[in-house]
Amino acid sequence: MKVITESLVYLNEFLEMIYPSNIKCICCEGELENKVDFNICGYCRSKIKFAPVWSNLNIENEYSQSYTKVLTVTEYNNAIRRLIYKFKYNSQTYIAREMASIMANFLEKENLSFDVIIPVPLYAAKKRKRGFNQAELLAKYLSKDIKVQYDINVLGRIKETETMHMLTKEQRSENVKGVFSVENSTQTPFKNRSVILNAVERVFWATESTQIEGKHILLVDDIYTTGATIKECSEVLLNAGTSKVTAVAFARS
Ligand SMILES: [Zn+2]
Repeated sequence: MKVITESLVYLNEFLEMIYPSNIKCICCEGELENKVDFNICGYCRSKIKFAPVWSNLNIENEYSQSYTKVLTVTEYNNAIRRLIYKFKYNSQTYIAREMASIMANFLEKENLSFDVIIPVPLYAAKKRKRGFNQAELLAKYLSKDIKVQYDINVLGRIKETETMHMLTKEQRSENVKGVFSVENSTQTPFKNRSVILNAVERVFWATESTQIEGKHILLVDDIYTTGATIKECSEVLLNAGTSKVTAVAFARS
């Protein structure tokens, strides 16, 4: 199974490089006759609700109270569910390239400037199983599109959460508490694992990092549901010295 997963990842990395633009629709795989935006045919485009929505999340950290602005660019419906399924569970990772350019398209209209892009981390074992972290791929392509560096070593996830859609809103919020932690990016990820695990009762664990200190971070995820994940990541990053966090997610459910 591991060999199959790894082969799929290599195959898809190759496809990501060579996948021809404007030949097939990324949603329905139908042939594209004309050049279309984001490789999505007219029919599929009519099924997707592109609508930028900003939400504010109140963040309390050790020093101050602030908020994280979150931009979601599409409404989570059947068309988006199928697209994200193909991307996440069917390893069609080249879809990330188009999803990222849709996100970049809306972000660029906002005239914001960021110092570094950070993806919402996946638990290491889950990433190994899936072969990739979907948010990391979105961050990679977003980085190319908006020309801001991305960093996958600054923020880490120290435990798995239960599958979110089975839980109530309160349980979801409780579920991600203490899951995220900031690592010193100059160190090997999880070098300080024992320290982190001892600090489970504490919501956050962070070290100073020049990568994020005083910086404006763009946090990236695929789906935004209750905001609990973004809120938790923001709190950890702000506690670690980040000056501001803005988040972007492809869909809101
Ligand atoms: Zn289509």
